[in-house]
Amino acid sequence: MQALKLHADWAPRPEYLPSEQELETRNIRNAHMVWHNPRIELGPAPEPELEADQVRVQVAAVGICGSDMHMYEADSDGYMIYPGYVTAPNILGHEFAGRVVETGNAVRDLREGDLVAVEEIQWCGECISCRKGFVNHCEYMGEIGFTIPGAMAEYIAVRERYCWKLDELADALGSAEEALVMGAMGEPTGVSYQGLFNRTGTWLPGHHVVIFGAGPIGLAAEALSIAGGACQVIVIDPSASRRAIAMRMGASRVLDPSAVDLNEALLDLTRGRGVDYVVECAGYADRTLQPLESCLAVNATLIDIGMGGERPTLPIVTYKQRGVQLAGSLGHAGKGVFQNVIRLMTAGRIDMRQMVSERLPLDEAVAAFRRLESREDAKIILLPG
Ligand SMILES: [Zn+2]
Ligand SMILES: [Zn+2]
Repeated sequence: MQALKLHADWAPRPEYLPSEQELETRNIRNAHMVWHNPRIELGPAPEPELEADQVRVQVAAVGICGSDMHMYEADSDGYMIYPGYVTAPNILGHEFAGRVVETGNAVRDLREGDLVAVEEIQWCGECISCRKGFVNHCEYMGEIGFTIPGAMAEYIAVRERYCWKLDELADALGSAEEALVMGAMGEPTGVSYQGLFNRTGTWLPGHHVVIFGAGPIGLAAEALSIAGGACQVIVIDPSASRRAIAMRMGASRVLDPSAVDLNEALLDLTRGRGVDYVVECAGYADRTLQPLESCLAVNATLIDIGMGGERPTLPIVTYKQRGVQLAGSLGHAGKGVFQNVIRLMTAGRIDMRQMVSERLPLDEAVAAFRRLESREDAKIILLPG
């Protein structure tokens, strides 16, 4: 079968000593410290073997994510930008949906022909983090498209327990194809859902909400905030084209961070009351969360989702004085996040297709990555089969 593979050279930075486990598995926790000269190539790959508790999925739609771009792009020293777990070589692709074409002997509920979206995080269910309910922090997780083969391929084999059916969505849309494209957005939308609604329990309808970053995660946070009853959703991004998408998707206001004083502008837009809920989806907390002080309402919540390397210096004294809570948020698994996201799509409360600028065949994957380097498009979806 055809697949899009990520290659990179093993070249630990002088200051980085890989652990014994990293040396053995080539699964690196801090990919940007080891993988050099990353590059992608479309070519043949063996079809995945099917285990008893797995289903074989013919991939119908797979999104190109900011993380994919950060695995493919290098910094000025030639090292991969992405700072999380990565194995190379590997097949990319972790935001996907497809059709079940074969089921293993131990599969209980899924049938051939079912349409499914799939969690990227392959949580073990047995480690201490999983047993405490924090499956996104699984100590033994595999990550589709990062540490195990991904979905920018014709087929992928995945355990049944990571699959969520899209049948109700296909019925609502009257189209399996459209449900599969929307289903591929379940993963990034789930990342925003987890941050907004699961991490702190402080979300309330009626809040003034600020979202940093109008990439896919920020736009999903915007759609979910509107669906969740925010009174005002202010989206902040330096890119004019991305701000335009945010407006099209229903933002109350968009701001160019380079053109305003954040505290002043946000106080102004909230009649001096301050913002209640801030979601960082840009990956630059040193420039987004760090400056916020006088614009924070009492009992404000800050959620940090964006992945960035910089270490911000945060005004914790202000947080104490104003009773502000800050939570990091990782992942999209557990607590029925996928199910709730699919239901919101089915009910027409969110339509993530609005941010899809192009749908392309897998053959054009390499060109699609090049095109995304400019960050003008929000989301490109590849259609392998
Ligand atoms: Zn992603
Ligand atoms: Zn676990």
